Amino acid sequence: MASIFSRIISGEIPAAKVYEDALTFAFLDINPASRGHTLVITKAELSGLLDLSPELVSAVALTTQTVARALTAALKPDGFNIIQNNGAAAGQVVFHYHVHIIPRWEGDRAVGTWKPGSITPAELHDLATLITAAVGQGGAA
Ligand code: AMP
Repeated sequence: MASIFSRIISGEIPAAKVYEDALTFAFLDINPASRGHTLVITKAELSGLLDLSPELVSAVALTTQTVARALTAALKPDGFNIIQNNGAAAGQVVFHYHVHIIPRWEGDRAVGTWKPGSITPAELHDLATLITAAVGQGGAA
């Protein structure tokens, strides 16, 4: 069965579209964190960032910048957040790749943030070594 976002692309489910090209589609979030909260999605039904080809990563990044520019020009926010959830543990609810663009105004508290932790220099080094060794592993896109 097609994802809810594929049904939006096909027009089966109505949405407030703001942009579309060959590979990507953007529309307003139905439960916005702030005025102008927009989702940029791939037309291809892929779940998360690791499923995207280099071409799609590039296409989504360009569309995200295009839409963020438009939101900034139209709504004059003080800033915006780019959020992209991967996996249920990270808060992903719709498993069709999407990037949130959330316009922000000073003091709006529209988006929560993390509690800063702490780490020793040795732990930082060991972690960086572990991750560096894994770069390039896990399969090509
Ligand atoms: P995520 O938690 O990253 O998977 O976010 C999914 C987002 O999709 C949420 O912000 C929802 O409000 C949004 N959403 C779900 N259904 C629709 C819909 N029919 N139209 C617009 N946005 C939707």
